[in-house]
Amino acid sequence: MDGKFVAEYAVAVTQACSTCKHRSKTVPGICIAFPDGIPFEILSGKSDHSTPVNGDHGIRYEAVMPKLDDRCGEHFTYRRFIECGETQAKTGLPNLPKEADSYKALHELATNVLDLVVDKFGPIELTYGFSSPELIKAIPERIAPKLDQHASHERNRIGNFICERLGAACDFIVQGKNMREVAEWVYKNTEVDRVYFYGSETPIHVSFSNKRAHQFVEMLVGKSGRRTPRVVRVD
Ligand SMILES: [Zn+2]
Repeated sequence: MDGKFVAEYAVAVTQACSTCKHRSKTVPGICIAFPDGIPFEILSGKSDHSTPVNGDHGIRYEAVMPKLDDRCGEHFTYRRFIECGETQAKTGLPNLPKEADSYKALHELATNVLDLVVDKFGPIELTYGFSSPELIKAIPERIAPKLDQHASHERNRIGNFICERLGAACDFIVQGKNMREVAEWVYKNTEVDRVYFYGSETPIHVSFSNKRAHQFVEMLVGKSGRRTPRVVRVD
């Protein structure tokens, strides 16, 4: 099977090939890396071609990035999470994810948490969404990018994840609703990772990841005048 195109597998294009930017859009079973036919081990899904394969001309699997106006869940587009928040608007930074997994995580946040919130409470106003390293640097107030999951699966200059919790996060408010009620509903009725509650008229922070903490954290202003995190039980 050494790198030869196998006709009967031509139709069974694997998940990896179907989301790869190098695949041929007209001829199934070939791509820029393998113009004479994608090897059986890749077509069959045995290899996802994330590491070099003999004869691949130095080209490997690379995910197609969604477009800004592609749907991200039922009620959102990627643009809503990427062009989001005061600092992004002020600076006009493109704020585009570089990692395909960041797009995937935003999609999971939308479908597992936010779509359900919209179905229950109506339209929501996103106040802070995805944050690229460039946007993180431009934000004047104190944020915690290593913990807050807004950087999703993006990496720093030396290739480490900015936030090892991974997943994706956003802040939102539902106009005219008590945000404690919304926050508690999200905690009880969705697969949310973490909910941060700041006050009944302040946007809440929600995240989704594959390592679910299922935490409800109050961030209320204490006697010192500072907000301190407190993990609380919600019954
Ligand atoms: Zn947040």
